[in-house]
Amino acid sequence: MSEIKVPFVSFRPLEKEIGDELRAAFDRVLNNSWYIKGKEDEAFEKAFAGYCGRKHCVGVGSGLDALMLPLKALGIGEGDEVILPANTFIATALAVTYTGAKPVLVDADLRTYNMDPAKIEEAVTERTKAVMPVHLYGQPCDMGPITEIAKKHGLYVIEDCAQAHGAKYKGQVIGSFGDAAGFSFYPGKNLGALGDAGATVTDSDELAKKVASLANYGSDYKYHHVYQGNNSRLDEMQAAFLSVKLKGLDKVNEDRRRIAGRYLAGISNPLITLPYVPAYAEPVWHIFAVRCEKRDELEKYLEECGVGCNKHYPIPVHLQECYKDLGYGKGDFPVAEEVAKTELSLPLYYGMTDEEIEYVVEKVNGFK
Ligand SMILES: *Cc1c(COP(=O)(O)O)cnc(C)c1O
Repeated sequence: MSEIKVPFVSFRPLEKEIGDELRAAFDRVLNNSWYIKGKEDEAFEKAFAGYCGRKHCVGVGSGLDALMLPLKALGIGEGDEVILPANTFIATALAVTYTGAKPVLVDADLRTYNMDPAKIEEAVTERTKAVMPVHLYGQPCDMGPITEIAKKHGLYVIEDCAQAHGAKYKGQVIGSFGDAAGFSFYPGKNLGALGDAGATVTDSDELAKKVASLANYGSDYKYHHVYQGNNSRLDEMQAAFLSVKLKGLDKVNEDRRRIAGRYLAGISNPLITLPYVPAYAEPVWHIFAVRCEKRDELEKYLEECGVGCNKHYPIPVHLQECYKDLGYGKGDFPVAEEVAKTELSLPLYYGMTDEEIEYVVEKVNGFK
């Protein structure tokens, strides 16, 4: 096979297909001359709430705010604790610390890389207010036991859905399990804007109203401020782009499954641990995470072969410098540390060609 280059991610194939629709959406907004909180926003919120099987969707400025604002709206703050996994993107923890509450970490399951439900209960104290399952890499968490534990201890469940738009747990779409869920539309996510954006979904009228208010300077009507809110609104331009892309989300996820299926069937190198898919899960493959004891060598080798890779994430939350005050240390979350040391993410994006997929498979199998 001749040498080619396969980037870690490319937006090109999708943008080629929907470029005209995106340009039409841009023109529509420009012709309207209305840029914040308008009908594009409303239309997307309605469509995305429907997609998630929820009553409300509140568009906000980022995935971070989509997680932080519902926590704040539920009254979580100083003196409270929120349980989340040690192996997640830093935003999950930041969403908690921005409210003044304390993140309490739990370790992952080494097979699914998701929060281990068995470890949640021992982290619960009388200060615990909520648990935040993260559907990491596009794999749904084991929501059955998580919901049960939360119910037993009277905890809110806020799902971090930033990597898993459309993934299903036992046939039910994620984002529809908790009291609220936060989505990111960062460009690289399965549903990505052409800039920063996010959304909170919920069935609660009261919570939706409060999140929307907190995202808009804490006001209920113009120049009347009930809360000391933020400025975190989904603008009309991004909402219009997102409406175009939401229509194609299932197709995008289907294509991601096709690529992941080829990797799962084709990669047979004994040095590589492939992702595991539990019977309850319908993942959407935001990340195709493999593990390898010689991860850094594998990464270097693949880069030399022209295959772009990434690590998600090289430093777990408990070992991040910004969180040294939490008092955690090395060895506290062995699974998260193992994943940080051995995980490598292979290229996976909508429209990857057969040649590109086969090239990655061949190179990964050729690693010694
Ligand atoms: C991307 C991401 C976020 C944050 O989303 P932003 O839009 O970048 O603020 C939160 N949690 C997880 C797991 C993510 O991957």
